[in-house]
Amino acid sequence: MKDKSSLLAAAGDNTRLAHLGHDPSSFHGFVNPPVVHASTVLFPNSQAMVDRSQKYTYGTRGTPTTDALCEALDALEGSAGTILVPSGLAAITIPFLAYLSSGDHALIVDSVYTPCRHFCDTMLTRMGVEVEYYDPLIGAGIETLIRPNTRLVHTEAPGSNTFEMQDIRAIAEAAHRHDCVVTMDNTWATPLYFRPLDFGVDVSIHATTKYPSGHSDIIMGSVSANEKHWPRLHDAQITLGTCGSPDDSYQILRGLRTMGVRLAHHQASALELARWLETRPEVARVLHPALESFPGHDIWKRDFKGATGVFSIVLKADHADHFKPKAHAFLDALSIFGLGYSWGGYESLAVHVNLSDRRIAKAPSEGPVIRLQIGLEDVADLRRDIEAGFAAAASV
Ligand SMILES: *Cc1c(COP(=O)(O)O)cnc(C)c1O
Repeated sequence: MKDKSSLLAAAGDNTRLAHLGHDPSSFHGFVNPPVVHASTVLFPNSQAMVDRSQKYTYGTRGTPTTDALCEALDALEGSAGTILVPSGLAAITIPFLAYLSSGDHALIVDSVYTPCRHFCDTMLTRMGVEVEYYDPLIGAGIETLIRPNTRLVHTEAPGSNTFEMQDIRAIAEAAHRHDCVVTMDNTWATPLYFRPLDFGVDVSIHATTKYPSGHSDIIMGSVSANEKHWPRLHDAQITLGTCGSPDDSYQILRGLRTMGVRLAHHQASALELARWLETRPEVARVLHPALESFPGHDIWKRDFKGATGVFSIVLKADHADHFKPKAHAFLDALSIFGLGYSWGGYESLAVHVNLSDRRIAKAPSEGPVIRLQIGLEDVADLRRDIEAGFAAAASV
């Protein structure tokens, strides 16, 4: 048989997703990897135990199941190594703990995932790290914020809830001139639509809870690092003892097999609805990077290969006092869209976004921001559901 790994390296996304991560011939020909539930691994003799001279040594340090997922993610991200952690939030906090020390300064994008800000403002600050938030649109201008003790620059594009695009390559180049590590939360795009390491990012972060899982039933995160930054990330994983569970690892690998076809559907439905929403009189603005009208569209078009299924709308409201009642009337009239946190599953969700934590990338002034996750349902049904929401909001 020909060497499959070299064929896969040149193959298309869906072919790679179907075959990456597990070699069936390594386990009796079974197409899927075994789910290894493990703490103890036995050694053949006491010297092997001292030398740890075998591939697997203890359950926290990897199993054939977690390896299968990590190898698939490394191939997709182009990374030197990947760790699996218990949540997407932990996929942010663990690399921050790995790369930052007391006395360091960290630059965090202001449109960041809100629980990341909470970690920075509480635990990280308490540990003596100075945190500063920067404008998502700063680009190469980040260099003016870098101090002698700046060690880490955290990016997230598009930004959570408001979808600001960042010039990742320009930021990474500036940060590297000062030897900072550049991290990116790449959850929205997945490695299919953006490959951070190709743009100079050192560490790519994912809530695999979202599209890799795809079914709203798993919480897990992954962190993938380039050659230079992998040893320290791996050390942090071992030191903190935060490993991925076997069943969840198996399910995430299972989710990856269909992620390409799911994303194509999410992308097409979300864009169709976003274009329709742009024409609606009830909507002040649609925040979706693939729309030509969106301020960050040029960066998205230049750097990204696609858009996934999450975007926001700004409902029109005459007065700030109406923001909340209008948002609630809209949401409470929905029946196919569920009201719930997270996204990336097969089902559509809507949430009234709270942007009160923003310091620089402030909330739109025209009305409340509603984030929509467009699931795999039929667009016509979702459109009817949104129309019911508009009708209810109109009476506020
Ligand atoms: C959801 C999300 C996370 C956190 O993932 P959890 O698994 O829910 O902890 C991190 N970053 C982004 C951008 C997210 O949307």
